[in-house]
Amino acid sequence: MIEKPRLLFLFTGGTISMAKTGASGHLAVTDAVPDLLSHAPVLASVAEIETQTVTNVDSSDLTPEDWASMAETIAGSQEDYDGFVIVHGTDTMAFTACALSFMLGGDHKPVVLTGSQRPLMAPRTDARSNLVHSAISATMNVREVGLYFGNHLFRGNRSTKTSVHAYDAYASPNHPPLVELGVDIERVSPALQRTGPLTVRTEIDPRVAVLSAFPGMTPSAIDALTDAGTKMIMLRGFGEGNLPMKAWPDAIRRAADAGIHVLVGSQCRAGSSRPGRYAGSDAARDAGAIYIGDMTGEAAVVKSMCLLGRGLNGEAFRTALLSPIAGEITPGSASRL
Ligand code: ASP
Repeated sequence: MIEKPRLLFLFTGGTISMAKTGASGHLAVTDAVPDLLSHAPVLASVAEIETQTVTNVDSSDLTPEDWASMAETIAGSQEDYDGFVIVHGTDTMAFTACALSFMLGGDHKPVVLTGSQRPLMAPRTDARSNLVHSAISATMNVREVGLYFGNHLFRGNRSTKTSVHAYDAYASPNHPPLVELGVDIERVSPALQRTGPLTVRTEIDPRVAVLSAFPGMTPSAIDALTDAGTKMIMLRGFGEGNLPMKAWPDAIRRAADAGIHVLVGSQCRAGSSRPGRYAGSDAARDAGAIYIGDMTGEAAVVKSMCLLGRGLNGEAFRTALLSPIAGEITPGSASRL
């Protein structure tokens, strides 16, 4: 008899395990996480499943300590399971996927994050299908941190939540999906080839900030964040990472001279943030800004927290930021050279 794969489901909360509560009718996490196999009995045909609760919160309340505890549990259970499914709120799932992909180094068993737009108990829930497809994905030996949503297994650190209400709430605008799970299951793009023994690094420096530019905005917030001891400021520019020419380059220079890493991303989801086409991006680069290429905003923020936590600064920070740790950036996408 062929043995079924063994999977560990780690619960963290989110809509999937919520119910409408109290007079307010808010969706809130329930005391007990739902019994998976009674709601999705078909899971038993996919794998032998065990569950563990990491925490039970709306994903807006997850912290880097929770990321670390997930990473450590996964690392510590490598010998016991063939893969891991993290049941997670959809709002910050991309951030957790990034964190796990940076914290877990070397070769490891597949990790798949999923959640749902409607609770597992709801009649029209998307949870059952997401759980089953995530379980199947976790048995496919895709040895990286993936995120399953809307019939696709995405590279987790390339994913971003794109819809509040659609059942296919996630996309990976700058990288093809790893697997498409339609009528047939097809591998679309190759998984990472990770080698070497598994390592876990959970150090985080949370002193990072994000500013989204808009026409008419002054860059005074850059100075305020500089004075507040921020270590990394990511500016969400327009298009390819354009920023206003007036006053912004000077503020970027002041921050860079104070040792702060000023990153420039884009308010657009698809494509690269890079200088070279417009004067506004060249001026920011010349003032010391680091363009993030085709990384998602989530990846750039979480990666910065990890690199700063590991004590990287100056040129070492810049080089590491622009080099892939787990496939989160296409080399060369941050410049036009
Ligand atoms: N607020 C919820 C969460 O992220 C949303 C969801 O799970 O869909 O925890």
